[in-house]
Amino acid sequence: MTEFGDIAPAEFNARAHELVEWITRYLEDPAKYPVLPPLVPGATTALLAPSPPREPEPLKNIFEDFESQILPGITHWNHPGFLAYFANTASAPGVLAEFLMAALNVNGMLWRTGPAATELEQMVTDWMRQLLGLSPGWFGMINDLASTSTLYALAAAREADPSLDIRRKGLAGRDLPTFRVYCSEHAHSSVDKAAMTLGIGSDNVVRIPADEAFRMRPDALAAAIAADRIAGHRPIAVVATVGTTSMTSVDPVSAIADVCEREALWLHVDGAYGGVAGAVPELRHLLDGVDRADSFVVNPHKWLFTPMDCSVMLTRRPDVLKRAFSLVAAYLETAEQDTVINYMDYGFQLGRRFRALKLWMVIKAFGSDGIATRIRHHCELATTFAGWIAKEANWELSAPHPFSTVCFRHTPAGLDLAATNRHNAAILDRVNSSGDIFISHTMLGSTYVLRVAIGNLRTELPHLSRALSLLQAATV
Ligand code: PLP
Repeated sequence: MTEFGDIAPAEFNARAHELVEWITRYLEDPAKYPVLPPLVPGATTALLAPSPPREPEPLKNIFEDFESQILPGITHWNHPGFLAYFANTASAPGVLAEFLMAALNVNGMLWRTGPAATELEQMVTDWMRQLLGLSPGWFGMINDLASTSTLYALAAAREADPSLDIRRKGLAGRDLPTFRVYCSEHAHSSVDKAAMTLGIGSDNVVRIPADEAFRMRPDALAAAIAADRIAGHRPIAVVATVGTTSMTSVDPVSAIADVCEREALWLHVDGAYGGVAGAVPELRHLLDGVDRADSFVVNPHKWLFTPMDCSVMLTRRPDVLKRAFSLVAAYLETAEQDTVINYMDYGFQLGRRFRALKLWMVIKAFGSDGIATRIRHHCELATTFAGWIAKEANWELSAPHPFSTVCFRHTPAGLDLAATNRHNAAILDRVNSSGDIFISHTMLGSTYVLRVAIGNLRTELPHLSRALSLLQAATV
């Protein structure tokens, strides 16, 4: 290394080869580490140097520090026993793509700052559309998270009536009715956070009751909208979910689209997890009605083997999204701006990572058939696991499992609801202390239930069988 430059190429090359070797061994068997580290707050901090080094440290030493100081505190999302939240996979093509992305360091804010990045993003989001069986006519972009995509969708809905000129005048201190957004009682908290961020207010997210299968009730939605109109509020958008976070229920999107069309409301569909099921022909019906939405989000970083982060947003109304966000400072003007997509015009972020590269590499490396086979396999594993639970004495399934996530609980005789909830929480702690399996929980109303989510490419029957034994052993 010279006084002014980067690490020397020969040094980079040597360390990079060692790193590739380490990553290969890691991905070969992440289960050599406990899926959950010992959960002692401050344990990593205690290992870290409290101040930056004055003198440069050799990369070799830094890597040793990574192994001794960072790795012990890692929760291993690539571990086959990771069955919590929505399990995912940083697949090999995705990992390689991240390496290339870092090396190229493209910032795709404008077409000219990343012509290939911009055009690949348009193409690969259209690949996603095709993969999921949606009809043509969508505009695609890639964001970091579904939370961002939903925020953008609601920002567009807020801007849908240009006469209100919200982007310039804001919402406060004006003679405007209260804006209202509707979603199921089981919709993700990102809807509330978007409303908080956009000045709509979380009180104005109207949670619509669900039916016995946890699906938003379109009749209750229509009634809530009618009541709000009578009260002088201004309904602007509905968020329907395909694969809710807690129990992966699917809202009746077609019936909700009928309501939205009648009421001229923006329909956003959150398929952050479940949307990928559209890649499997026999599961594609779960996306019925999505083609009628104004916007749709699906996260390849959840169930499409793409490393964090990668959230695909499709919209049929890019003009409205652009109207909500486009602001071209003098230093960002380009000669071609009226003839190309400059992605900075479609969101509040100026700089943008080259996420399209990893999604492109992942889709190419597995192919649409390979993706369908893997998603189908996860759903079959979930069905097998659910079958085991259903057969066990004193265990019950708590919700349908249309995808690869199973909600269940242990119900020993003689315990009331509160005691049963505590009992299941204790089961969760015991299972998770094993180091082999990591599961999570949710509340279905006032009922505490356990959740097993299958989404990692390494998870197979033996891991589920180990989970079952740990669950059985944890009941006592
Ligand atoms: N929507 C649903 C249905 C989810 O399950 C989640 C996360 O689990 C999100 C949105 C938020 O996703 P992200 O972390 O990408 O913002």
